[in-house]
Amino acid sequence: MKVLVINAGSSSLKYQLYDMRDESVLASGRVERIGMDSSIVTHEPADKQEVRVVSEILDHVTAVKRVTDMLTHKEHGVLASMNEIDAVGHRIVHGGEVFKGSVLVTSEVKLEIRRLFDLAPLHNPAHMMGITAVETNMPNVPQVVVFDTAFHQTMPKTSYLYPIPTVLYRRHKIRRYGFHGTSHSYVSDKAARFLKKPLESLKMVTCHIGNGASCAAILDGKSFDTSMGMTPLEGLMMGTRSGDIDPAIVPFVMNKEELTLNEANSMLNKHSGMLAISGISSDMREVTEAMNEGDKNAKLAFDMYVYRVKKYIGAYAAAMNGIDTLVFTAGVGENSSDLRKAVCEGITFLGIELDEELNAKRSKEAREISTPNSRIKVLVVPTNEELLIARDTYKIVQG
Ligand code: ADP
Repeated sequence: MKVLVINAGSSSLKYQLYDMRDESVLASGRVERIGMDSSIVTHEPADKQEVRVVSEILDHVTAVKRVTDMLTHKEHGVLASMNEIDAVGHRIVHGGEVFKGSVLVTSEVKLEIRRLFDLAPLHNPAHMMGITAVETNMPNVPQVVVFDTAFHQTMPKTSYLYPIPTVLYRRHKIRRYGFHGTSHSYVSDKAARFLKKPLESLKMVTCHIGNGASCAAILDGKSFDTSMGMTPLEGLMMGTRSGDIDPAIVPFVMNKEELTLNEANSMLNKHSGMLAISGISSDMREVTEAMNEGDKNAKLAFDMYVYRVKKYIGAYAAAMNGIDTLVFTAGVGENSSDLRKAVCEGITFLGIELDEELNAKRSKEAREISTPNSRIKVLVVPTNEELLIARDTYKIVQG
């Protein structure tokens, strides 16, 4: 069985084709600049040369057509015909309270995803365009949707409700949803397998730290709490997002600086975080480099970033009345030994003992970076959200 995984954004579409017999990736790629001039398709077939084609791609229907053309291309393709694709799995950012797991796409499911446009105005409409584009190009292929929020639907009310008038929850569904759920789910499961222990027996904190970043407390094998909230702005300090701030700052600044709602939103989402404090970049590599060259603002940004990760780990250890496993994943979590070292060095009282040599090593495999004496197992687990989407799609289509 072959599954095509699609992550559709407003002007881009990423894809990965899996052979589910051995979960191998047959090809992957992306379409960029959809709807702009000079759209680019980058196609990477396994065992063949990468190809880049620049052309005009006005909409998602054409983007999916270009992907299917590439997959069946005489020279660069990996399929004899599109009939070989048995199912398509889509990443969907927001599943609200309706979707507690992945589901087959039906007209009711599409309606529900549309109802959630308000909660994820930048993402869900783009995902919907992806679904429609697949329907147009491959009308008989079943589609499955996998939600970033679904894994966190197990959170108790104490974790997901905000202490604001409850009418706002009833009327507008204002609550914590959490994101990166596919990643937290994938790495927590993988970490338990790595440790050869049932996930249900572990008290785990997973740190997904990339451009966007979130921590999750995993208790009894389920998400118990997570740092992102109603939107992906809450929680940790990120590349360009502020994370937690005093909410009263928003109306105060809007008033003082005469900002519109959009400008305030943009300030917190695009001009804050590491970028704002370092004044250099939102990219951890560049900030670390500048810090190592003696830049004070870069050091402050790094220190604040680390401090906030530590605070969440401590908070979740208290929330779960313990912690025995700490997992780092995503771009920064998987690659920055400096960040992992700084975080772990600051919370040794919990029983963390980092093995500096193991921490400094690079690998694409899940690995332990704590010493045998460490009370808390510290792991680096490369995330693979696409694989989890492919697995869910396969399971659901198989019935
Ligand atoms: P996204 O949230 O966009 O998926 P990623 O998970 O790819 O982001 O993470 C991107 C971040 O990972 C960037 O800040 C980048 O600097 C950081 N990163 C990637 N490689 C390294 C590295 N070798 N050392 C430190 N940071 C890294």
